[in-house]
Amino acid sequence: MRPPVLNPLYADVTTLNGVGPKLGTAYSNLLRQGRESARLLDLLFHLPDRLIDRRNMPEIARAAESALCTILIRVDRHEKPGNSRQPYKVMGHDETGELVLTFFRGQSAWLEKQLPVGEMRYVSGKVEWFNGRPTMVHPDYIVPADALETMPLVEPVYPLTAGVSLKIMARTVRSALDVLPDLPEWQDASILAREKWPGFGEALTAIHNPQDMADLSPECVAWRRLAYDELLAGQLALTLVRARMKRSAGKAWRGDGGRRKAILDALPFDLTGAQARSVAEIIADMEKPERMLRMLQGDVGSGKTAVALLCAAGAVEAGGQAAIMAPTEVLARQHLSSMTPLAEAAGMRIEVFTGREKGAVREKLLADLASGTIDIVVGTHALFQANVEFANLALAVVDEQHRFGVHQRLALAAKGSADVLIMTATPIPRTLVLAYFGDMEVSKLDEKPANRLPIQTNALPIARLDELMARMGQALKRGDKAYWVCPLVEDSDELDVTSAETRFKALSDRFGDRVGLVHGRLKPAEKDAGMAAFKEGKTRILVATTVIEVGVDVPDATIIIIEHAERFGLAQLHQLRGRVGRGDKASSCLLLYKAPLSETGEARLNIMRETQDGFRIAEEDLRLRGEGEILGTRQSGSPGFRLARMESHGNLMEMARDDARLFLQNDPELKSPRGEALRALLYLFGKDEAVKLLRAG
Ligand code: ADP
Ligand code: MG
Repeated sequence: MRPPVLNPLYADVTTLNGVGPKLGTAYSNLLRQGRESARLLDLLFHLPDRLIDRRNMPEIARAAESALCTILIRVDRHEKPGNSRQPYKVMGHDETGELVLTFFRGQSAWLEKQLPVGEMRYVSGKVEWFNGRPTMVHPDYIVPADALETMPLVEPVYPLTAGVSLKIMARTVRSALDVLPDLPEWQDASILAREKWPGFGEALTAIHNPQDMADLSPECVAWRRLAYDELLAGQLALTLVRARMKRSAGKAWRGDGGRRKAILDALPFDLTGAQARSVAEIIADMEKPERMLRMLQGDVGSGKTAVALLCAAGAVEAGGQAAIMAPTEVLARQHLSSMTPLAEAAGMRIEVFTGREKGAVREKLLADLASGTIDIVVGTHALFQANVEFANLALAVVDEQHRFGVHQRLALAAKGSADVLIMTATPIPRTLVLAYFGDMEVSKLDEKPANRLPIQTNALPIARLDELMARMGQALKRGDKAYWVCPLVEDSDELDVTSAETRFKALSDRFGDRVGLVHGRLKPAEKDAGMAAFKEGKTRILVATTVIEVGVDVPDATIIIIEHAERFGLAQLHQLRGRVGRGDKASSCLLLYKAPLSETGEARLNIMRETQDGFRIAEEDLRLRGEGEILGTRQSGSPGFRLARMESHGNLMEMARDDARLFLQNDPELKSPRGEALRALLYLFGKDEAVKLLRAG
C-alpha cells in the first residue's frame, strides 16, 4: 500500500482548478506518453529548462538589438492602420528616445484601454531596431507604472506540447506546488547539513521558481537534492533485491572440469587471456556457497558466448542446469546453433525455449526442464515466466546487451538459488553499473581474439550513393558479404528516411536475388530463413534494421553499411559495426549520412572513425549525450531516471550506494521513522517492486 501522505501527489492533474479534461489529455500526452493520466507528481517532475528574464530595464536608447527588455514609457499617440494589412502602432518615449509598439491586427478598443495617451506604462518584450528606430512587436506584457509586481520578471520555461501554453503550464505548476503535502524527511540530517540541501518540497518549489540560469543547472542544490532522492531510491531498491538474493542461500557448485575440458578441446581456437581469466573468476564464484551476482563486460566480438558456455558446463558438471537468456529470438537461435556441437562434444543436452515453442513441444520442454533431463536451455525472456520450473538451476546467464530496466529481471532471476551472470556488450562505466544494476562484481573481456584485423571505418554523404553502388558491385564480384542497415522497416510520412524495404527494392533491382531482407516485423520463420540464407551465402547483401544490432554472428561478413548513421547513437553504431571484423579477413564499415550533420552527429561519426575501443566509445557517448542535453534536449535525460542526470549527478551515486547499504544494515525492514519515510521515497520514484520484496521476504 502506498503511504497515504503521498496521496495528494498521486491525484490526477484534472483535480486542480482550471484543468479540464482537454488539458488533462494534453498533460497526459506530454508527461506520460498519453498512456495514463498525468498526476501532480508527473507535473512537478517536469522541470523547466530555460527562463525568460525580464529584469533588463534599460532606457530606450540603450536597449540592445533583439534583447528582451522591460521599458517604462509615456504613451504619446496611437497611429491607426489605413488598411487591415498595416500594423497598428503606438508611440511612446522616455528621456532617451522614442519607442514604437507594433501590433498586427490590433484591436483599437483594447489598445486604447491598455495604452492610454499620456499615461506611464511598463512594456516588456523583444526590442528590434528598424532603420535606427527601436520597435517592440507585440509586447508580452503591458502594465501600469505602479503595478510592476503583477508582471513576472523571471519566468521558467518548460518543454511544452500542443494544447499547453507556457502561461497555462506555469499556472498549473503553481497550483500543484500549492497543494504539495508536507512529507516526512527521508534523507539523513547530516547529509542535508553537509551538502546544504533543502527539503524535498522546498527543492521542488525552488526548481520551479528559478531566479537565474544557475538555478536551472543540474549542479544547483535543489536539483542535486532531488537527483539524490532518486538515486537513493534506486540504490535502496537494488540493495533490497540483492539482500533478498543473498538471503535465499546459494549453493557451492563445484565440478570436476571434465565437460569444460571437452569444450575447450572442441573449440577451434584457444581462449584469450581475458576469456580464461573471466571463466576462472566466474567458476570461483560458483564454487562459493554464497550466490553469485556478477557482470561480464565484453565489447562486441570479445567472445562472451564461449565464456557463458564454459560456465554453463561448470554448472552441469556440478549436477545443475544452466539457463542462458538472450534479448531476441534471433539471438537465442543463433546461440543454440553455435553451442550445440560444443555441448554435444561435452555430452550435454541443450534446447531452445522461446515464445515460439508451442503446444506439445512446449509441454515436453517444460517437463524436461522440470525433470532435469535438459542440461542447458537457451531462450528469451519467456524463460522467466512463472510456469517454467527447473529441477536444479545452478546458473542463470542474462545476455543483457545494455538494455536497462533490470530491477525486475534481477528480482526474477533471484527466484531460485541460482548464481546470476549478467553479460553486457557495451562496456559500462562504473557509475552506470551502480546506477542500473547495483553493486556487483565485474569481469572484463578487455582483450579481443588475436586474429582480429581493425575495421576500416569511413563516412560518406548519401549524395554519393551511385559511387557506393558501383563499389558494392565490385565487392560482390570478389565474393564479399555485406550488411546494409536502415533505421526503419517501412517508409514513414513523418520521417524523410530511406526504409529497409525501399533500400531492399533498390538493391534487388540492381543485384537480383543476391539481396536478402530481415527486420523485426517479419514472421519468426521468415526472419530465421533470411538470416540462414545470408549465413550460408545464398544471399550476399543483407538489408536489415537494427534487429542485427545484438549479437548476430556471421564471421565471413566483412562489410557493413549503416544508412542514416546520423540517426543512431554511438553505442548503437558501435554494436552494429561489431557485426563485422569477426573473422580473419579485413572488414570495413561505411557510415552513410544525410548532410548537413549536426555538431553532435559529426562528433559521433568522427569518434567512430577514430576508435574501435568500446570503453572509449562508451565514455564519449556519455559525454556527447551530456552535451546534447546542454543543447536543449535535457528533458530526455538519462534512461530510466526522471530527475537524475548521469553526467552531472553520477558523482552522487557511490554516496547513495553507501547510504542505502548502511541504512539497510540497521533497519533492513524499513521500520524506523526514517525507514517509513524511505518507503514513501521508494514509491515516489516507482520502486514499489522493492517494497513488495520486503514483504515477500
Ligand atoms: P560477443 O562477445 O560479441 O558475444 P561472440 O561470443 O559472438 O562475441 O564471439 C565473436 C566471434 O569470435 C565468434 O565467431 C566466436 O566464435 C569467435 N571467438 C570467440 N573467442 C575467440 C577466441 N579466443 N579466438 C578466436 N575467435 C574467437
Ligand atoms: Mg554475444
